Amino acid sequence: MDAAVLAAVPLNSVSIRSWERPLTGEQNMAAVVVASVGDPSLAPPGHHVVHAYAPATEPYGLYEGMDRRSAAYKALKAERVAFLYDAVERYLPGARADGRVRVALEGTPLTHERFLRRSRGTYGPEVMAGTGDAFGGGVTGVPRLWAVGDSCFPGIGVPAVAASALLVVGGVVGGSGVRRMLRDLGL
Ligand SMILES: Cc1cc2nc3c(=O)[nH]c(=O)nc-3n(C[C@H](O)[C@H](O)[C@H](O)COP(=O)(O)OP(=O)(O)OC[C@H]3O[C@@H](n4cnc5c(N)ncnc54)[C@H](O)[C@@H]3O)c2cc1C
Repeated sequence: MDAAVLAAVPLNSVSIRSWERPLTGEQNMAAVVVASVGDPSLAPPGHHVVHAYAPATEPYGLYEGMDRRSAAYKALKAERVAFLYDAVERYLPGARADGRVRVALEGTPLTHERFLRRSRGTYGPEVMAGTGDAFGGGVTGVPRLWAVGDSCFPGIGVPAVAASALLVVGGVVGGSGVRRMLRDLGL
């Protein structure tokens, strides 16, 4: 997106449609992230990259079984992403004016399912508090085979995935081994 429209843009914003509804409600909350404010190398000179997304609140059921090439899917996608463009416009008025958006990529749970191989298009597995469910640990039933990633404790997100690997490494080489490895990595 043309940087002129983003003269004084925050790195992260959250748009709430209604405080009367749960924040986890459908199409009620959208995050708008302009990562190129923090790292200009993420966009060509004079431009920004704007990422707007719902926090795992878009129902997969709306799209389940649809043909991604069908007119019905394209129409549904256009209808559903309008909420995200509204959130962008709230912080960046005029953002969608002619010619300002150079590239627009719009995704749905089907997009995540197909291109990220995510089950039912989720951001990652969810464990509900109070249900007795828990993320698995790194130990598998196969000797010398460990599991890491967002299906393991502590769960989804890049920092959590790194932590899950660190926990497994700690189990294998011990706390002092981890400290030595982190020192060797300059961390
Ligand atoms: C749209 C989206 C936005 C997100 N935003 C954020 C964010 O802002 N911040 C954050 O911290 N986290 C975010 N997350 C979550 C984060 O991306 C994941 O928790 C994290 O990437 C999981 O890492 P992983 O290594 O466990 O799995 P993945 O990153 O999913 O890696 C698994 C890899 O295995 C490959 N694979 C799958 N099956 C096979 C197979 N049979 N053979 C070979 N390869 C296979 C996949 O193609 C993939 O490359 C987001 C997730 C999504 C979907």
